[in-house]
Amino acid sequence: MQTAGDVRVRGPADDCRVAPGGVDPVLDVQIEHNRSARGLQGVIFTRDDRAGEGKLSSRLGLVTDAVEVTDAMDLYAHLVGELSRGMRADYVIVDEAQFLAPGQIDQLARIVDDLEMDVFAFGITTDFRTRLFPGSRRLIELADRIEQLQVEALCWCGARATHNARTVDGVMVVEGEQVVVGDVNRPAEQIGYEVLCRRHHRRRMTSATARAAALSPDVLPVNSA
Ligand SMILES: [Zn+2]
Repeated sequence: MQTAGDVRVRGPADDCRVAPGGVDPVLDVQIEHNRSARGLQGVIFTRDDRAGEGKLSSRLGLVTDAVEVTDAMDLYAHLVGELSRGMRADYVIVDEAQFLAPGQIDQLARIVDDLEMDVFAFGITTDFRTRLFPGSRRLIELADRIEQLQVEALCWCGARATHNARTVDGVMVVEGEQVVVGDVNRPAEQIGYEVLCRRHHRRRMTSATARAAALSPDVLPVNSA
């Protein structure tokens, strides 16, 4: 049972990639670069990206211009509008696809079918409660190809990390809103995420909890000074 691993959906080219602990933007930036090098030009849609509106962040430090998706945006209509104004686009990349509305995922499928364009969508499948994001669910339903990428992410125990954990002030929680964007509205709470194996997600055991347990007096090595 693999829920949050790394999923990538590809169509004649519809591509959804899901990584535990958040979308790893490295791959989409790589796709962008590889295709740019071949003279192809892409459009990037993103939602609630960490680098701020309209920017695609990356752990490689690359930032690419992107179109920030809003709730009301029709991605198909937006793209057709841009194309009719003379913009060139050979493919589409969608980052943080789990945050799109299900209807917007349908619009991506229409881009593939009607415009015969490759769409690569990246996102995480499940939230910290192990439930599918509505956008991810629709993506899995519609994608021509779903690919779970090899992730290097490991749980603190060394097992493959497949689940996202949310911590509030250092304590793992399994209740709460599905989407909390940044910490802007919650200055009092420190919200963090950690990837865990399923066993430790079920046991609510984060690395901090495990460390605290290991350091408790009854298991502390005698000569640990
Ligand atoms: Zn573990």
